Amino acid sequence: MNQEPRDFGGAARRCPVCVSPSRGVAPIPARHPLRTCPRCGHRFALATEVELEALYSSAYDGFRDDALFERGVRSLFAEHILPRAKESCTLLDVGCGNGTVLRVASSLGIAARGIDFSHAAVELCVSRGLDAEVLNFATHDFETQFDFVTFWDVLEHLVAPSDFIRSAARALKPGGWLVVKVPHHRTLSVAIAAAVPRLAPALLSTPAHLQFFTEASLERLLQPHFEAIQWVPLQRGMRTQTAAHSLRKRVARGVVDAVLSASGDGNLLAIARRKRDAETRS
Ligand SMILES: [Zn+2]
Repeated sequence: MNQEPRDFGGAARRCPVCVSPSRGVAPIPARHPLRTCPRCGHRFALATEVELEALYSSAYDGFRDDALFERGVRSLFAEHILPRAKESCTLLDVGCGNGTVLRVASSLGIAARGIDFSHAAVELCVSRGLDAEVLNFATHDFETQFDFVTFWDVLEHLVAPSDFIRSAARALKPGGWLVVKVPHHRTLSVAIAAAVPRLAPALLSTPAHLQFFTEASLERLLQPHFEAIQWVPLQRGMRTQTAAHSLRKRVARGVVDAVLSASGDGNLLAIARRKRDAETRS
């Protein structure tokens, strides 16, 4: 039977990556249909700025310290950043959180500056002697350009990730490097979350995550301004899980971990060079 897929989405919305009209495929998170782009395969959810602000109020704990994460960042720098670094090298970490990337970069002799929209995160970084401030990356013009810009788990939270890609091109020197890490959700975990929406927060981190990149859609997002894209393999669990105390929560986490490993979910990490002639004005 040739049945048209049900459209949960209402009015047509443009794909944030390739601006094609998208289709609503599942009512997750509950009030916001997950949409998919028939052209580039990108999946995304819609949210308003007000909802996003509420989400990142004081309860947001996205910047807890994590030794496992710090080790992962150190090995990324040793293998992939330092070989590209020149003397007196500068780095801007967008969404600097607890300052792990800034601390690692500084310890390797890179002049690192962090920005975040969270005042609590910036206060924490400053209290640790790191150079950080609250700034809107999409609109700010920096007085100097950087050798590296890093987005660690940032793009998936944004309504319009292409704004940040354009800003990264503007903030980088011609030939400078952008490092982007996002989670990678494959079809199986998306299908399970669509069938059982209450699993969506655990499987897809909804509603905090709005963009669900594939390698193809992330590459398409970078292409207007960046070239020489290198994909760096990363293991799935780069962060230590917070402790689950109740048996019910431990069982639920076991189920979610099994689904995530069966579906092949993990991370995407791309390092890309700013094109010398990148068009950086919006
Ligand atoms: Zn698209």
